Amino acid sequence: MAKKKKMGLKQKYALLTRGLDWETTYQPMDKVFPYDKFEGIKIKDWDAWEDPFRLTMDAYWKFQAEKERKLYAVIDSFSQNNGHLGLTDARYLSAVKLFLTGVSPLEYMAHRQFAHLGRHLRGAGPRVAAQMQSLDELRHAQTQIHTISHYNRYFDGFHDWQHMHDRVWYLSVPKSFFDDAASAGPFEFLTSISFSFEYVLTNLLFVPFMSGAAYNGDLATVTFGFSAQSDESRHMTLGLEVIKFMLEQDEGNVPIVQRWIDKWFWRGYRLLSLVGMMMDYMLPKKIMSWQEAWEMYFEEQGGALFEDLARYGIRPPKYHDVASKEKDRISHEVWAIFYQYTHAAGFHTWDVDEAHKAWLSEKYPNTFDKLYRPRLEMWKGMADAGNRFYNNALPQLCTTCQIPMGFTEPDDPSTICFRSSEYGGDTYHFCSDGCKDIFDHEPEKYVQSWLPVHQIYQGNCGGASVEDVLKWYHLNLGTDNMAYEGSPEQKLWSQWMAGRHPVAAE
Ligand code: FE
Ligand code: ZN
Repeated sequence: MAKKKKMGLKQKYALLTRGLDWETTYQPMDKVFPYDKFEGIKIKDWDAWEDPFRLTMDAYWKFQAEKERKLYAVIDSFSQNNGHLGLTDARYLSAVKLFLTGVSPLEYMAHRQFAHLGRHLRGAGPRVAAQMQSLDELRHAQTQIHTISHYNRYFDGFHDWQHMHDRVWYLSVPKSFFDDAASAGPFEFLTSISFSFEYVLTNLLFVPFMSGAAYNGDLATVTFGFSAQSDESRHMTLGLEVIKFMLEQDEGNVPIVQRWIDKWFWRGYRLLSLVGMMMDYMLPKKIMSWQEAWEMYFEEQGGALFEDLARYGIRPPKYHDVASKEKDRISHEVWAIFYQYTHAAGFHTWDVDEAHKAWLSEKYPNTFDKLYRPRLEMWKGMADAGNRFYNNALPQLCTTCQIPMGFTEPDDPSTICFRSSEYGGDTYHFCSDGCKDIFDHEPEKYVQSWLPVHQIYQGNCGGASVEDVLKWYHLNLGTDNMAYEGSPEQKLWSQWMAGRHPVAAE
């Protein structure tokens, strides 16, 4: 009797994604899958979906378990060996705080939304891909929380990241970005997160954070970065796959997809201005400037991608030229916002020292010395005189990206860029044409925006004073916020470093 042949991966994958689904008969398919048509995307053949990874569930669990084992072994040894003492400087941790409070909760949101897609896409192929990504994202959230929890033992601002994510003013920038994506239909969600974010812009988030971590002795963060990397390459493939799939299925999909690409490019780009600030101002040991990263990862790599997509009738995202015009400005503009509002932030900022200024002026020859150095020097002078500048007026926010209105005109870096729209008898304000366009296309969605400053003024954030609001954020006043210099964290760090590298006896 002939032995039954073992199935190959390809065959197993085919059975998983082509053999396990069926056309329902008790209920019409449109009732079973109620979400995948209302956006106007037409799919004629769900089987045309091809996942180049062809991963089956048993293989998936095996790979992931292996990665988990390695990750937790490294984290354990990092923790036991006081790995935090190997950091370049405690200032670096401001970047990690921003990551834990701003990015990790988005991983969890991604987990939820991909689980939703894993149920609601009509084709079994994309459903399986979404299911695996959902599990990946849950793992990312968990590994980030576990890894970073080590710092919570010694440093400030890590204690209540989830609570902060839902309330703190600047965290409404990442939160509203993801809420916008998750409250869209399934295809817009895939375009926003899988394509625009994971495929087009992800290198601008992960490379800076992970190389930044490596350069600054943060082995913990490097480890989860590596552990997430192979998932990330699967996600990027899904992102490109889904775009091509939509474009190939029906010509009518092209303008819908183009509009989403325009929207999510701009939303993602505005969100990344936080990363730009992190790269240019928060890393004690720098990797590259925001401008260099933008040129490499968007202008070059993104340029090649959109050349490739031109054959489907897709052009580069609207306002990509504006983003390029701003590339030597946004990181400085955003740092200036956070410097002024550090009393209301869950991390520290500081006066930039001479070596750092020299680096900035080398990296930004056209803008830094002329536009930003004088401001930093004025602030340094104020701080030295015992009058460190904190801005006590609440800023106006952009209704779309929710960033304080600190960006400047595309062609004039000395004038704040200010746009507005009327809707339903009210006026709404925007930081850019990109953000205004997004609002104008779906005003009913954005009039609901939870704008932190408006909420404070309406009395919904714990009280009328800054102190009331910060308590409502669960910030520990005097430790989590305010300038780095003089903070408990800085004092502790200096003590440790003095103990490790004793100064020669006088
Ligand atoms: Fe993730
Ligand atoms: Zn905006």
